[in-house]
Amino acid sequence: MTEYKISLIPGDGVGKEVTAEGVKVLKAASEIKNFNLNFIHYPFGSEHYLETGDLIPEDALNEIKKTGAIYLGALGDPRVKPGILEQGILLKLRFHFDQYVNLRPVKLLPNLPGYLCPLKNKKPEDIDFIVVRENTEDFYVGIGGRIKKGTAKETLEIRRELYKLKFDLDVVTDADEIAYQIGVVSRRGCERIMKYAFETAVENKREWVASVDKANVLTSIYGLWRETFDEVSKNYPEIKTEKLFVDAAAMFFVRNPERFDVVVMPNMFGDILTDLGAEIQGGMGTAPSGNINPGGVSMFEPIHGSAPDIAGKGIANPVAAIWAGSMLLDSIGEKEAAKLVMTGIEDVLKEGKVKTPDWGGASKTEEFGNAVVRAMKKYI
Ligand code: ATP
Repeated sequence: MTEYKISLIPGDGVGKEVTAEGVKVLKAASEIKNFNLNFIHYPFGSEHYLETGDLIPEDALNEIKKTGAIYLGALGDPRVKPGILEQGILLKLRFHFDQYVNLRPVKLLPNLPGYLCPLKNKKPEDIDFIVVRENTEDFYVGIGGRIKKGTAKETLEIRRELYKLKFDLDVVTDADEIAYQIGVVSRRGCERIMKYAFETAVENKREWVASVDKANVLTSIYGLWRETFDEVSKNYPEIKTEKLFVDAAAMFFVRNPERFDVVVMPNMFGDILTDLGAEIQGGMGTAPSGNINPGGVSMFEPIHGSAPDIAGKGIANPVAAIWAGSMLLDSIGEKEAAKLVMTGIEDVLKEGKVKTPDWGGASKTEEFGNAVVRAMKKYI
C-alpha cells in the first residue's frame, strides 16, 4: 500500500482544532481509497517560540524536505509581536521550499447561509474559478528604501542664504524625503507560473485562462509578464486566453465571477484579489490555500488566522482546513480521495444539519469533522 509522509504543523489557536478535524477526514479518505497517510507532527508556533525561542530550525526544514507535503493550521498569538511568526515560520517555509504558486480556489459551496456571500443572486455554479497567484516576485522582493530624510533643511538653508529669503526651517525639515519600492519579475518566474496556470486549466478541464496585470502603466515588468503569457499560451492551443488589467479584473470578480475559469496574476495584485475572491465565496472562514512547488514540498492551509477570540472553545469552522486537506491529497496524486473529501463537505452542507456557530448552527468543530467522515463512508 502506498504510504505518504505528511508534515503536520497545527500552529496556534484554532489552527490546532481545525487541523485535527482535517487529519481525521484525510485519514478516513485514505482508508476508503486504500493508501496510508503518516502525519509527522511539528510543534512550531507561538507556544514553542515562547518556550524555546525557536521558530523553525534548519534540521526541521531538512526533515520536512523528505515529506510529501506540509499541512499547516494557523500562526498568530497576541503575546508575540506581529510579523515574527509569519516571517520566521510561514514565509521561511514558503521561501525555503520555493513555493512559487499560491493556489486559491474561489468556489461558493452549496447551501451556505445567504448572508455569507455578498453577491446577490449568485449560485455555486456562478462562483467557481481558480486563482493562480505568483508567490515570490513582483513588489514583494524587498528592494526598497527611504532616502533624503532631513536633507531639505540643508538645501533650504543654502537657498535662504543665497537669495536672502525669510522662512522658518523647522516646518519643512523632511520635505525632500523620498521612498521607493521596486517590483521585479523574471522571465523564468513568469514562465513557470504561466505554465502552472495552463496545466491547472488542462487538469481541471477548464476552457479559459485569464492573465491579470497593469501593463498599460507598469509597462516594463508587466510587459514581460504579458509577453511570457502569450508565449506559454502557444503550447496550449485548446485553451482560450484573455488579458485583463487589474482594475477590470476586480470589477469582473464582483460583477461577473462566472466568466472566470483560471486566473493567473502577479504577487501584489494576487494578494489583493485573492482576498476579494475569499469574500465572494463567503468570507475568510471558507477559503483554503496551497503554497505550491510542483516539483518540491508544497504547503496547504486555511487562509483564516488563529482566531484567538474563539480558540479553545471547540467551535471553529473546520471547512477551510478540511478543504485545504483535500488540495493536499490532490497535490500528492490522490485525486479520487481529494474529490471524496470535497463531496463529503458538500454533502454535509447540503444536508444542513451540522453547522458551526459562525454559519448559524450550534455544532462543534469535532461534530463537523465526524459528519464529513460519515458522509464519505456512504461512498464505499
Ligand atoms: P490572527 O492574528 O491569527 O490572524 P485574527 O483573529 O486577527 O487572528 P482571523 O483568525 O482570520 O484573524 O479571524 C478573523 C475573525 O474571523 C475572528 O473574529 C475569528 O473568530 C473569525 N474566524 C477565523 N477563523 C474562523 C474559523 N475557522 N471559524 C470561525 N470563525 C473564524
